[in-house]
Amino acid sequence: MPHINDPVMYVQDRPQCDPDQIRIIHVGMGASGLLAAHKAKKMLSNYELVCYEKNDTIGGTWFVYLDAALSDDGC
Ligand SMILES: Cc1cc2nc3c(=O)[nH]c(=O)nc-3n(C[C@H](O)[C@H](O)[C@H](O)COP(=O)(O)OP(=O)(O)OC[C@H]3O[C@@H](n4cnc5c(N)ncnc54)[C@H](O)[C@@H]3O)c2cc1C
Repeated sequence: MPHINDPVMYVQDRPQCDPDQIRIIHVGMGASGLLAAHKAKKMLSNYELVCYEKNDTIGGTWFVYLDAALSDDGC
């Protein structure tokens, strides 16, 4: 059993009730990722958001089908 003077024990220098930072990982920066980032910025204060996107740019399906989205009929 670890002793209080044992160097492997770590006592945090803050109250336990202090709110922890929320850490969010979002995979994909399509519409869902953009909305998640927007909502996090609007509704959260103490957070870290890391977004991963496999494409060179954000937008997901809406970017991939940009030409179709800009066409007259939208299809
Ligand atoms: C032709 C077409 C027309 C559509 N028209 C409409 C419409 O008019 N209105 C409507 O509401 N919806 C439409 N949709 C549905 C559309 O897919 C959704 O509206 C919206 O784009 C879904 O957003 P999303 O963020 O969930 O997914 P996506 O837009 O697919 O985004 C997912 C993102 O995650 C990334 N990703 C995936 N895997 C990984 C990984 N392993 N690591 C990192 N990044 C990753 C992708 O590259 C992509 O950028 C249409 C879909 C298609 C195909």
